[in-house]
Amino acid sequence: MDEHWNDLLKRQVWKHFRDMEIPEELFPLLESVSTSYTNFEKEHRLLERVMDLSSEELYESNSELRKRNQELDQFVYSTSHDLRAPLTSILGVLAIAKTEDDIDQLHQLISLMETSASRLDDFISEVIGYSRNKKAPVVIGTINFQELVESCIARLDFMPNANGIKFEIEIDEQKKFFGDSTRLEIIISNLISNAIKYSDPEKESSFALIKITTDPNLKLIVEDNGIGISERSVPTIFEMFKRATSHGYGSGIGLYILKETLDKLKGTVKVQSVEGEGTTFEISIPNQQEVR
Ligand code: ADP
Repeated sequence: MDEHWNDLLKRQVWKHFRDMEIPEELFPLLESVSTSYTNFEKEHRLLERVMDLSSEELYESNSELRKRNQELDQFVYSTSHDLRAPLTSILGVLAIAKTEDDIDQLHQLISLMETSASRLDDFISEVIGYSRNKKAPVVIGTINFQELVESCIARLDFMPNANGIKFEIEIDEQKKFFGDSTRLEIIISNLISNAIKYSDPEKESSFALIKITTDPNLKLIVEDNGIGISERSVPTIFEMFKRATSHGYGSGIGLYILKETLDKLKGTVKVQSVEGEGTTFEISIPNQQEVR
């Protein structure tokens, strides 16, 4: 028997021939059977590896599907509430307004309707932002942070407490940052709108500090002296429709969208908050283009 033959073949030959001499003319045939066996074993191992990978992928897409299904259930439930609540309140106020003659009272009712309508608008834009992030490819370009932050603040000007907030912007661009401006806008907007929404009316003055450094990766800090988040609630604020307070008019979807958007950019977020004192969000996003 030849030492280099395939083990399986060696066992079969041993079974048939035992101590008998193997006929010389069989050697070429056994040699090629040995090669076939070895090849077959290699292919078998390869196939096993492919199957392992496929079932791993299948498992992952199954868990992803289960997560998305749960989110969809929650989404339908909360959406119907978040869309209906402001609408019902607008309809209620309208019913009162119909029978009101006093112009001052009417102005008050109109401003109540305005608040409900902007709440609806806020929610719908957040959902649109979510779907944009899911579908659109990541588009890389240079970012003008000063402009981006200023336009986010300007667009949030309609929010009820926005006028009472002192916005401070500090930008230190050590290296040019390349990133997806639409997604960065979703992230910055969400953080600034929360700093406005959860500002503390008890404090003498409210601020939101937006600090940006690129070295070459982006670090974005949004700090406020708002109502803060309880230690117990901090771990859940990035979940869909999770709210940490009944204060304000949020729907609990903003930070979920922020997290999903950050995932697309391979970024991370940290939050530090003290109830009654304020909150600081720290976002890190890798520069999408190598910087020399
Ligand atoms: P919402 O639409 O309710 O603002 P988010 O997902 O943006 O939802 O935030 C989730 C919860 O986290 C909020 O309901 C709020 O309780 C808390 N939160 C987020 N940002 C702040 C902040 N800057 N200050 C205090 N609480 C915050």
